[in-house]
Amino acid sequence: MLNRWSILFFLLISCCIRVSYASAGDADPLYRSCVNPCISTGCIGEKCFPHCNSSSNGGSVNSPWYAQESLYLKWKQSDCLSDCRYYCMTGREKERESLGLGPVKYHGKWPFKRVLGLQEPVSVALSVLNLLMHFWGWLSFYSLLQYKLPLKPNGTYYEYTNLWHIYGFLSLNSWLWSAVFHSRDIDITEKLDYSSAVAILGYSLIVSIMRSFHVRDEAARVMVAAPLLAFIATHILFLNNYKMDYGWNMQVCVVMAVAQLLIWAIWAGVTHHPSRWKLWFVVIAGGFAMLLEIYDFPPYEGFVDAHALWHATTIPLTYLWWSFIKDDAKYRTSDLTKKVK
Ligand SMILES: [Zn+2]
Repeated sequence: MLNRWSILFFLLISCCIRVSYASAGDADPLYRSCVNPCISTGCIGEKCFPHCNSSSNGGSVNSPWYAQESLYLKWKQSDCLSDCRYYCMTGREKERESLGLGPVKYHGKWPFKRVLGLQEPVSVALSVLNLLMHFWGWLSFYSLLQYKLPLKPNGTYYEYTNLWHIYGFLSLNSWLWSAVFHSRDIDITEKLDYSSAVAILGYSLIVSIMRSFHVRDEAARVMVAAPLLAFIATHILFLNNYKMDYGWNMQVCVVMAVAQLLIWAIWAGVTHHPSRWKLWFVVIAGGFAMLLEIYDFPPYEGFVDAHALWHATTIPLTYLWWSFIKDDAKYRTSDLTKKVK
């Protein structure tokens, strides 16, 4: 059983670990003979890319500050590389199609059609929808607690209010960077996306422990959260400043994801919570949705791949998840106010 969940989660997590190692497409000598000269000359035949025109010597002493900044140059260079790769890939894919050959991956990714400069427009749109769904869920959670449920002089009766507020913030943050990363996959956007994904995954593990073990005492909460937070922070620093180790990151993500899934599933099994079916539904449907990551098919019409479909399934699950959180707030508040009376 545990094994099956591990596999499912392994696949889920391939979101936060989209590895870009060599694939059949970029190993193709015809593709290489297009990309390499493009990077050095900035042109493919008649077509030239403006980003490739920056001087690659790091900018002269007399050039303006922004041209001397290595970050600015790096940005231009990665845009140049990205444009060259994209145009060579589309050209090569057209040739392959005319020969009756199917699409192949380039640098670990299927060939996607760009729209308005967005690399994976469908995943971008779905990330934005996920973000909006979280925003709506968070907002309705806030208004429920502030305006509909009874309040104590020093805040809400519900003991997990602040934990879910932080959860809402981290979720919005991770979907924002997911949208940015799917728009343009470069070093900085990749780091921001991975770091945010690790942060929300690690934080939800902490929340799952707090809620299911009913940790209410401040000191106990600090004891639970401190080692996990320290680990998450160290891991994020490691990825950003030491090594973007995809394999290690995958292991970390899998362990954190499997742990929280098991915690929620076991809790859903033993609790008498009136909305436990929502918990079950999210855990099981979430597991099945991850199967989409198994069928790693090339994007339909160059737009919709399995990963995009997976992002689509998280939208209704997010709705149900926030609905569970709101039910939990109502349930706990009515329980506590009854005791007060
Ligand atoms: Zn994604």
